Amino acid sequence: MALLQTHNLNKHFGGLHVTADVSFSLEPGKIHCLIGPNGAGKSTFFRLLLGEHQPSSGTIVFDGQDITRLKSFQRINRGMSVKFQVPGIFGALSAQQNLQIALQHRLDSLDLNAEVERLLDFLQLREVADQQAGNLSHGLKQWLEIGMAISLKPKLLLLDEPTAGMSPEETFMTGEIVKQLNAQGMTVLAVEHDMAFVRQVADRVSVLHFGRIFAEGTIDEIVADERVAAIYLGQSHD
Ligand code: ADP
Ligand code: MG
Repeated sequence: MALLQTHNLNKHFGGLHVTADVSFSLEPGKIHCLIGPNGAGKSTFFRLLLGEHQPSSGTIVFDGQDITRLKSFQRINRGMSVKFQVPGIFGALSAQQNLQIALQHRLDSLDLNAEVERLLDFLQLREVADQQAGNLSHGLKQWLEIGMAISLKPKLLLLDEPTAGMSPEETFMTGEIVKQLNAQGMTVLAVEHDMAFVRQVADRVSVLHFGRIFAEGTIDEIVADERVAAIYLGQSHD
């Protein structure tokens, strides 16, 4: 059974048809990348999944339940988590304090300090644990945000452009983080522009174009698809 399915999902902003009949299926245990030109509707699709926007029509089923009318916090309680493009960390607090705050919301019995320590090591934040999060490098901030997003052990992690602004080395490291999370059982859906990253992590790739699923397949199938190449011609990639 799919972990997440949308059925004929539509979203209009005034006259703009930003999500157009999206029927999408995400298998559990996979890493799925969503690509597509700037303005294709990728972030809007994420906001629909998380409940930050209500769809104009269509349904969203997550983990066997219709969640279309549920609020964001109810979706998060059911195992969804997201890291958006816009930072959500507390800049004046240390990296360690940010993780402590995120982990406060865990309901299972947990040695909070041990889990903070584990995340600091896993995300290579050990050396900057006491530094103000707002002063961290761009890459470290992104990893801290991933740490906050996984603090509730979500079934599904949504990542909106996790490698934006990163060096190739940081991008690779992010891919390794995502693969390790996936190996621990987390299903991942990532919006991504960097095709090296997509190749590094993705089991499956969907292409969004003008709000529609334009193509879907393995990375090799997508790269070989001339129709997909054509939609990128002359477009900026971010
Ligand atoms: P992507 O993430 O693929 O770059 P977005 O989902 O951010 O694309 O945006 C898709 C289209 O929807 C764009 O034309 C954008 O201007 C429009 N859009 C996104 N959010 C809103 C909103 N809240 N109100 C009106 N238009 C929006
Ligand atoms: Mg976007």
